[in-house]
Amino acid sequence: MNIKDNLTQIQQQIAIACQNTERAPNAVQLLAVSKTKSAEMVMQAYQAGQRHFGENYVQEAVDKVSQLSHLSDICWHFIGPIQSNKTRLIAENFAWVHSVDRIKIATRLNDQRSAQDTPLNICLQVNISGEQAKSGATLDELNALAAYVNNCQHLTLRGLMAIPQKQAPISVFNHMHQLFTDLKKSYPTIDTLSMGMTNDMDAAIAAGSTMVRIGTAIFGSRD
Ligand SMILES: *Cc1c(COP(=O)(O)O)cnc(C)c1O
Repeated sequence: MNIKDNLTQIQQQIAIACQNTERAPNAVQLLAVSKTKSAEMVMQAYQAGQRHFGENYVQEAVDKVSQLSHLSDICWHFIGPIQSNKTRLIAENFAWVHSVDRIKIATRLNDQRSAQDTPLNICLQVNISGEQAKSGATLDELNALAAYVNNCQHLTLRGLMAIPQKQAPISVFNHMHQLFTDLKKSYPTIDTLSMGMTNDMDAAIAAGSTMVRIGTAIFGSRD
């Protein structure tokens, strides 16, 4: 397995998916999901030109962030479920958080983000596939959560994130894009729809995703 070749191949697949749906080739950003993978593997991806990395587990991520702190332009995204006792480490070590799904977590991240740092970029996770998913704001909660985050001084509302169920119909992806488009009308800082993983990347891009979160296709399967 060669991380550099995998990145090249994924970038090509993104470009083709954009072309197929008449979107600009740079309309979709690649987030490399490095959870369970070593700092050395992150370094290989970095050397191949990758800058944005996604992590799910706070302690594991913080170790990698400190091992790679000499890379001044690396950008860390937290994409996993958030326990409230972990928000400080997230606020201190990440540039983006994709998985904010309740006001309590937004409050803590805002309070714990240093005023010296740039505001933390926030995507709201939406529970788009219904009861089976554990995390994500419901559609009923979404507007109030967006308004709240938009008012937080140390947070910037950037968009929405979703993890559609396996084999979700295209209507689910389109629904997310509709929510994104609607919310963008109220909040001009919104520019990111974080949707699409190794197995549903093409569907997500066809529906208008602007950031895909890819782990397996770059770093290989996880144990
Ligand atoms: C693990 C994970 C990914 C990457 O999944 P792959 O199928 O390995 O591409 C993307 N998003 C989230 C939220 C994840 O937890």
